[in-house]
Amino acid sequence: MKETLIFASNNQNKITEIRSLLDSDFNILTMKESGIHIEIPEPHDSIEANASEKSRTVHQMTQKDCFSEDTGLEVEALHGKPGVISARYAGENRSDEDNIRKLLNELSHAKKRNAKFRTVISLIRDGKEYLFEGICKGTITIKKRGFHGFGYDPVFIPEGSTKTFAEMNISEKNHFSHRKKAIFKLVDFLNKT
Ligand code: IMP
Repeated sequence: MKETLIFASNNQNKITEIRSLLDSDFNILTMKESGIHIEIPEPHDSIEANASEKSRTVHQMTQKDCFSEDTGLEVEALHGKPGVISARYAGENRSDEDNIRKLLNELSHAKKRNAKFRTVISLIRDGKEYLFEGICKGTITIKKRGFHGFGYDPVFIPEGSTKTFAEMNISEKNHFSHRKKAIFKLVDFLNKT
């Protein structure tokens, strides 16, 4: 029988990506499917702490095995920003569009456009927490390109590609993505223990 894990997120794009990677081996339940109808805040100053906040909250409410993930875009010329504040870079409740506009403005004179996505997964299994990291290095474009994906996908080209994430379908993005790398570490751990 497949092991059941709750994925502590309400982000439909992340749920789709996670399911495309895990559905064949695990039974993934969303928060809504587990009867949890809350938004979990991300109040901390690190990606790790925000990932922990989400999995611990869901574990406290359900006492079931669960995992969460938190992701940030770290841009070298901006000394690692927007990083942990990637979702609200242009301000609270701003859109992906606003965040991208701010990012491209901040980089308008930058010579180096290197960046990386960093995902941290927090798994709580049998009451114990485990962290897994996935990194995807790349560069930030001058202009938006493509319509797939979400967040900063239209302005991020992963190393080894000439397309932005938003010009890729989900399986092409999975080939490079930070989230996939973290998920593979999670799966490896789950399969070995
Ligand atoms: P969070 O992990 O939901 O806090 O996401 C932080 C910010 O990074 C949000 O603006 C997301 O839209 C963005 N983000 C997270 N994962 C990705 C991704 O895979 N591609 C592009 N943007 C992402």
